[in-house]
Amino acid sequence: MRDPSCLFCKIAAREIPAAIVHEDERLVAFRDIGPHAPVHVLVVPRDHVASLDATDEGDQGLLGALLSAAREIARAEGLSEDGYRTVINTGADGGQTVHHLHVHVLGGRSLGWPPG
Ligand code: AMP
Ligand code: ZN
Repeated sequence: MRDPSCLFCKIAAREIPAAIVHEDERLVAFRDIGPHAPVHVLVVPRDHVASLDATDEGDQGLLGALLSAAREIARAEGLSEDGYRTVINTGADGGQTVHHLHVHVLGGRSLGWPPG
């Protein structure tokens, strides 16, 4: 299901341009428009899912596919050896600004921890 007002639904449907690096029947991955690292890719489900908190046990396959895709993108971007970070921001305190579930894949530099 798509949400016609949702930015990432529109990107997944190619109604809004993005630098897509991977897509399959379930997922789309594209470069973040405001990258926080040399590699910053977002992996999203094609179907509208508002956040991690909006998923349930029936979404285990989708959630596994998101992480597997994140791993493959990290490999394809040459991040495996030096490492990388995968992040899912959820809700207001989590810093989520786009309310369509997405996994950030960040790498290409040493990343600080803990988050602010
Ligand atoms: P979050 O803060 O976790 O919800 O992450 C949303 C991310 O979406 C941010 O890193 C934004 O830079 C990114 N973003 C917003 N609009 C676009 C867009 N049109 N194309 C690609 N990335 C976007
Ligand atoms: Zn959406």
